[in-house]
Amino acid sequence: MSITDTTREIPTVTRTRVVVLGAGYAGAMAANRLLRNPDVDVTVVNPQPFFVQRIRLHQFVSGTGDPQVAFDDVLADDIRVVVDTATRIDAGAARVHLASGAHLDYDHLVYAIGTRHRAPEIPGAAEHAWSVSDWAAAQRLREHLATLDEGDPVVVVGGGLTGIEAAAELAERGFAVKLVCGGAIAPSVGPRARRATLRQLARLGVEVVEEARATAVDPSRVFVDVDGVEQILPSAATVLTTGFVAPDLAAESGLTTDEIGRLHTDDALTSVDDDRIVGAGDAVAVAGMYLRMSCQAAEPLGAQAADAVLARIAGDRPQKVDQAFAAQCTSIGRRAATLQFTKRDDSPARMVATGRLAATAKEIACRGTVWFIRHEAARPGSYRWARGGDLATTTEPALP
Ligand SMILES: Cc1cc2nc3c(=O)[nH]c(=O)nc-3n(C[C@H](O)[C@H](O)[C@H](O)COP(=O)(O)OP(=O)(O)OC[C@H]3O[C@@H](n4cnc5c(N)ncnc54)[C@H](O)[C@@H]3O)c2cc1C
Repeated sequence: MSITDTTREIPTVTRTRVVVLGAGYAGAMAANRLLRNPDVDVTVVNPQPFFVQRIRLHQFVSGTGDPQVAFDDVLADDIRVVVDTATRIDAGAARVHLASGAHLDYDHLVYAIGTRHRAPEIPGAAEHAWSVSDWAAAQRLREHLATLDEGDPVVVVGGGLTGIEAAAELAERGFAVKLVCGGAIAPSVGPRARRATLRQLARLGVEVVEEARATAVDPSRVFVDVDGVEQILPSAATVLTTGFVAPDLAAESGLTTDEIGRLHTDDALTSVDDDRIVGAGDAVAVAGMYLRMSCQAAEPLGAQAADAVLARIAGDRPQKVDQAFAAQCTSIGRRAATLQFTKRDDSPARMVATGRLAATAKEIACRGTVWFIRHEAARPGSYRWARGGDLATTTEPALP
């Protein structure tokens, strides 16, 4: 692995050139796997000079975990890393323009730039609220939290898995946390897992406000509508975890996207506009499939994106995406978690584990995501994943 200074001229490569945009779970997995073909030159573009374990960002803001992993540790030696940001894809010219002013020409492109926070249209949110969803946002929140005192009120808005993890972590750090959920908490898990989640949050002192809608944010308060009654919640830090959107790179490059900016691909991860472009991870909307944004989905997608590129180089047709979900595991501070096993389509199964056992499983899963990428770097093509998921739906599975 070598890091290139983009202020210098980028040398011309003569073999099959594959550029991977984004070195997250999907992009790093794809980059390593592409080396199954020794005649491929792989260049990865990523804004940070290290791999960010996004699933530890709630730990990062609370000071309980470091999400950074050196690229040396997760990317194969033969991969070139360009620390930069893609600003435009010129699909016609097969060229990616970078923020530094440099550009990269490609024969094949892997689009794996992830997602970021979806800012809801709440007055004051853009100016006064924080987010934990990506590296830059998490750094800003961490700096702000460092200016607060133990016991200060913190409001987390968004009762999905990210909101629960963030609220629990901040409570364990000593803040007085309220978790405002637009509907019921943890809508994607079953009733047993939901009850366990509420119990474990209560133990940490997190006050959960369900069926509540945040209507405005100012520097020290959140205004919330609960059944038509306005409540004013004091808040020294309002953290929004209200969903993700994709960056606008694909849309601004004239590629077809869905309503949240994800690159539209066919069922084999190929852009519907250009068969030299494949997508993977959170940043793609795969035709006819529901794939919950997760590293659980992103790594198999990264592997299959690499396989799709290698198939095209070999003159073959890429295979249809084939993967399955196994579980939804939510950390609730450092000593508890809720592990909801799922059916292959990600809908809740009967089995649930909680407490320390689930916390251990969650830590193993977090380490596992990095281990899989590292292992693929050492032995390209070795990664295996759960297959046979019935993901043939364009909507989220029905809630229990
Ligand atoms: C706090 C938190 C907790 C989470 N917990 C879990 C969990 O427990 N389990 C789970 O499965 N999922 C979890 N997720 C979701 C999971 O992190 C994402 O689904 C996963 O990171 C998606 O992987 P990805 O490779 O598609 O994108 P990412 O991991 O986001 O990687 C995308 C990469 O692309 C880079 N990039 C962005 N724009 C550009 C550009 N223009 N040019 C070049 N590079 C670019 C980014 O900097 C980043 O390095 C969590 C998310 C958060 C925020």
